Amino acid sequence: MSQGTGGFGGLKPLQIIGDGEQGLAAPVGTPVAAVAEGRTRAKVIIVGSGPAGLTAAIYAARANLEPIVLGGYAAGGQLMITSEVENFPGFPDGIQGPELMDRMRAQAERFGAVVVDVDVDRVDLSRRPFLLWAGGIEYEAQTVIVASGASAIWLELESETRLRGRGVSACATCDGFFFRDRRVVVVGGGDSALEEALFLTKYASEVVMVHRRDQFRGSRIMQERALSNPRVKVVWNSQVVDVLGEDHVTGVRLRDTATGQEHDEPTDGLFVAIGHRPNTGVFRDWLEVDGKGYLTIHDETGTRVDGVFVAGDVHDHRYRQAVTAAGDGCRAAIDAEHWLAERGLAEPATASAW
Ligand code: NAP
Repeated sequence: MSQGTGGFGGLKPLQIIGDGEQGLAAPVGTPVAAVAEGRTRAKVIIVGSGPAGLTAAIYAARANLEPIVLGGYAAGGQLMITSEVENFPGFPDGIQGPELMDRMRAQAERFGAVVVDVDVDRVDLSRRPFLLWAGGIEYEAQTVIVASGASAIWLELESETRLRGRGVSACATCDGFFFRDRRVVVVGGGDSALEEALFLTKYASEVVMVHRRDQFRGSRIMQERALSNPRVKVVWNSQVVDVLGEDHVTGVRLRDTATGQEHDEPTDGLFVAIGHRPNTGVFRDWLEVDGKGYLTIHDETGTRVDGVFVAGDVHDHRYRQAVTAAGDGCRAAIDAEHWLAERGLAEPATASAW
């Protein structure tokens, strides 16, 4: 599922790279010009264009590996639907997520990386060079770096699906604007929910946070900010069991997790912020996943397929930060470079002490 499927306008929703649920074919009309400047073979193909993918691209490009990035039809990853990023080093006044991604992309392209905004439909990792199909084009890669990220989880209610884009959203940055002076509900108790709620206070008259337990999971500073905001109200120990409304959201039905009692809470919008799922769709048949469905890594950034490396949220359900994803992308690119050099497929360019 896409994180920004509100459909009210705003930023383009995040398209999943290789999410089995959404169908993987590139949209009809994908321009042929989307092919990587005529190149379909590369020493490194990077799947994903969030901080992990683009940092891998910067490192691989600077090591003269001329990487191709198959970045997703809506490129940029989760930061494209994030507002202010205050914890990425080097930006003391903060930076908007989309601007940070634009800068990373420009930096990768400056060194010769080619970024193609197309989803990967299918891969074959049983042979080398590896094969990847994207937008009807077959690509060949000596090494692959999987940096396809993670996407928002939904409540899986029929009414939630029906009213998506009609008041139900998973992206306050995309859709918050449409709720000026309205009442909105945010589900979840982690940092995402707290961040969404705080963002929505810029527009909404009241933001009701609904959490299934009696304490938040999110960081203390975010909790303090939310709880001290006069526009934020919290309903503890409650689950959203239904979204009310025929053609637009008019309310949510809440169930008390202790007593089982239900009541309706009027609202104009429902923002779901209950976590993420890794985008492993096209790789699931080839690479190992852990109990939560995230890719398993071997020997730092490697996988069970020699020559395939992993970076970012697609394997990391612990840190999930832009800066850790970027660091991961760097590591995967250096590992890919060494792998190629050891096989005489590239000149060693990055010095290492190991
Ligand atoms: P998260 O930490 O996994 O929190 C998910 C929240 O949703 C939890 O409170 C969970 O409840 C609730 N939840 C899960 N499934 C639910 C369901 N079916 N119905 C109702 N509630 C449900 O996810 P996250 O908030 O997306 O954060 C993920 C990671 O990114 C964290 O490490 C976080 O610190 C980081 N992050 C950081 C920032 C920042 O630094 N600015 C911003 C966003 C995220 P329980 O608490 O009961 O499990």
